[in-house]
Amino acid sequence: MYESDKIQIIDVAKEIKRVGLIQLSGGNVSVRKENGDIIVTPSGMPYETMTTDQILVLNKEGVIIEGNLRPSVDTVAIRYIFDHCPEVNAVIHTHQPYATAVGLIGDELPACCTTLCNVCLGAVPVADYANAASEDMGIQTVENLNGKRAVILKYHGVISVGPTLKDAEYAAIYLEDAAKLYLAAKAASNNGVISIMTEAQAEESVNTHKTYGQRKL
Ligand SMILES: [Zn+2]
Repeated sequence: MYESDKIQIIDVAKEIKRVGLIQLSGGNVSVRKENGDIIVTPSGMPYETMTTDQILVLNKEGVIIEGNLRPSVDTVAIRYIFDHCPEVNAVIHTHQPYATAVGLIGDELPACCTTLCNVCLGAVPVADYANAASEDMGIQTVENLNGKRAVILKYHGVISVGPTLKDAEYAAIYLEDAAKLYLAAKAASNNGVISIMTEAQAEESVNTHKTYGQRKL
């Protein structure tokens, strides 16, 4: 069931690990299908050797309908996000350090570069602390998402979302790059004050990306 989705989930999990957004078996990747089924990575399993039969499928009610392993411990939060965000079909959770660091110094990662606006659709909010593996983690995400593609979870990591898994993957990866840029600029400035894009510039950047990539024929 959902073999190609499972292959894509494993590929994305390996990629976010390769670029340093997670360590060991941390984080998780999930996809929601049109009928409400959720495909999610298992709890505490290494991604490098993961096979499609280790990926879990849950129905809309949260009952495991395929797979023998325990699903990600954050499944309760993931289900909350899918239940409350009909436009979201993919959720990625990471422990990426630079974006998480931004959560320790402010309420958002401001629109500091075009790529952040392109893929996260503007500044990325920081959600209040919520315990890992709790429904509260999902509630905090939904409350702060506000149409964006990512939320920084204070003292924890990041949740990125999208209509497709690619969108959520790009959001998580470019968010980390933008966070590095932001922290580097802050550190290099004399008083911590740095230049941030204007609202009009950020909006222009969000809109520009809609025509990025190859046109569908
Ligand atoms: Zn976590």
